[in-house]
Amino acid sequence: MIPFVARNVFRLQETFLGRPSFIILNELNKSQWWKKEELEALRLHRLKQLIHTAYDHTPFWRHLMDDSRIHPEDIRSLKDLTKFPLLEKLTLRENREQMVWKEEGKRIQLVRTSGSTNEALEFYTSSSREAHINAARMRGHEWVGVRRGEKEMYYWGSPVELSKQDKIKRVRDLFINDGLCNGFELNCDRVRQYFEQWCSWKPKCLFGYPSTFVLTVNMCKEIGLDLTELKFSGLQVIITTSEMLSDVDRDIISRSFGVPVYDSFGLREGGLVGHECAHHTMHCMDEQVILETIDPNTLEPVHGEGELVVTNIVGPAFPIIRYRTGDIVTLSDQSCACGRSLSSINISGGRAVEFIVTKEGKWVVGYSFIYIARSVKGIVKFQVIQEKLGEIRVRLAVDDSFPADGPDQVKSQVQKRLQSDDHIIVELVDDIKPAPSGKYRPVISKVAEEMFKTCSFC
Ligand SMILES: [Zn+2]
Repeated sequence: MIPFVARNVFRLQETFLGRPSFIILNELNKSQWWKKEELEALRLHRLKQLIHTAYDHTPFWRHLMDDSRIHPEDIRSLKDLTKFPLLEKLTLRENREQMVWKEEGKRIQLVRTSGSTNEALEFYTSSSREAHINAARMRGHEWVGVRRGEKEMYYWGSPVELSKQDKIKRVRDLFINDGLCNGFELNCDRVRQYFEQWCSWKPKCLFGYPSTFVLTVNMCKEIGLDLTELKFSGLQVIITTSEMLSDVDRDIISRSFGVPVYDSFGLREGGLVGHECAHHTMHCMDEQVILETIDPNTLEPVHGEGELVVTNIVGPAFPIIRYRTGDIVTLSDQSCACGRSLSSINISGGRAVEFIVTKEGKWVVGYSFIYIARSVKGIVKFQVIQEKLGEIRVRLAVDDSFPADGPDQVKSQVQKRLQSDDHIIVELVDDIKPAPSGKYRPVISKVAEEMFKTCSFC
């Protein structure tokens, strides 16, 4: 599809879904150059609106504000936001139905995510909220030279069984120049197929997890494929998301594909938080989120490195105010050579994703198990452990809504996804604690660690 046409098909789709994404994109493309004071005024205006909305339309926030003796009129500066207590994931999970304003607008929908850790979470979104996220993502992509409508290949996961909606989406994706390759389950043959597919489809941008790209690079090295060939069929940039992108991995991916690698950072429940510009500064989406850092132990505000706390100021249907993310970051107001007045964020880590290796030699990305956590009700946390080849242990912390046949459902979902006769053990546990480093590890595989050490992937 010609990019101009694909862009307009996407525009039509957004209009049809009640999402003014392109209007917001135009606004964002102007406000990024505003003076700091103008941006701050917009943020304060939006924050005040959000607090009023939360008070007027959601029982949870009204009670919380009454109990904490906060009146909407008390919020006169961005600093006043700290009058609010922190919002924990557990509080969100337990009070979800009291936190939503269902009359806010169109298409209020319940969505499930597993966020930045291995905790599954349900929350509400709406057309206007999705429009803001889409606009922010489009702007971020434009910063590194990719306009909506140009060919983008999502090197991503996919559900085991496609629902009718998924199938419609696949067809629609072709019209808007979005490609999809399953990057969650890889082996050397599949990587070879993808390479050929990319050479003929000619994407301008590849979008996916850093760990998937690193594994792809390693497999291609072993089977003798030169990824820089993609550059000659139009690849110009790789954009990563969802995990921490280390300098080492960025360098490996960039050298192997021969194109620059840019990172982005968001969480489904909090919105798109940051996207790198062409100068590799990860700018915050200041028009949409207010970010703070706290000491994760004392919960006091900190300068420098700390746990990220997010307030989304463009999502009135489901107000997210001072939400603890569990991610460790550093915020900065330093200016960037690109000249944009947006602040910036540095991610310190905590999003390591690892692989499971099946008996048949297929590498399955840990996040693949997100689909399983989403498909069975009541899973609060999950962890997958592989001590030896042929055996996979799935540990689950569940709540009361987990069905009696839940373990069997999980087992069959895992089998379907892995398409392997590996022995699957499902264990119910009270809680899954982070590793001593404080990181949640959704997947721990001694087998994959060993294969990485010996550089044998096929
Ligand atoms: Zn910049």
